[in-house]
Amino acid sequence: MADVAPSQALPTTSSTSPSSSSIPNNPSETGYDPTLRWRNYFNVLTGRMSPRGQLAMREDAYVRNESADIQRCEEWRSWLFTYSPTIIFLRQQIRLLNGELDEENVICRRCPTRIDDDGSVRRQGGGFSAGHGILICANEMRSRSHLEDTLAHEMVHAWDSLRWKVKEGDLRHAACTEVCSFLVLISYVLYRLKMDFDAYCLNDDRSAHQPSQASVAGHASSSREETGT
Ligand SMILES: [Zn+2]
Repeated sequence: MADVAPSQALPTTSSTSPSSSSIPNNPSETGYDPTLRWRNYFNVLTGRMSPRGQLAMREDAYVRNESADIQRCEEWRSWLFTYSPTIIFLRQQIRLLNGELDEENVICRRCPTRIDDDGSVRRQGGGFSAGHGILICANEMRSRSHLEDTLAHEMVHAWDSLRWKVKEGDLRHAACTEVCSFLVLISYVLYRLKMDFDAYCLNDDRSAHQPSQASVAGHASSSREETGT
């Protein structure tokens, strides 16, 4: 799609990236030694590994599992494009604005955890950039429905970008589009719940007022008896 793309540029990591994480780690301080597999699990269970050590351990696991995570993410993405009512609906709305989102610009990648200068840990599930597309952080996706939520959130950003010409880097626009994305999804979820509720109630109503064939026959005969027809 020409105009649409995630809020951060796509990470440079890929299935061919180096097999070590970028989290600084001193085994004597953190209790995590990448060369000792089972000892590390033991250290986690016994509280001998610091949070920073656990972070480094998890990042190393993400690196080892990168190819499998990306493959699983791509399979879920294809399934959602085909079967998810939410994703299909949002894709249609984006097409109405002459945009397109598909396997070419919805990309699954491993997203390394970032540590800010103040020590705070930054993880992300995905992102949108008008110049690149949608990024899905394959290592952070816990389930297909988690990916569905993440993808839908980023698709609303894409829709915003096309509809309102959101300026990248403008913090006020970024805040507005985050709120909009949240509200649109909440609205859509409520709409789907109402549809399901209506369908359930109508069915229930019909079943309550549409007795079985036997009872209909019985009711008809008793009606005839009552009315004399
Ligand atoms: Zn967002």
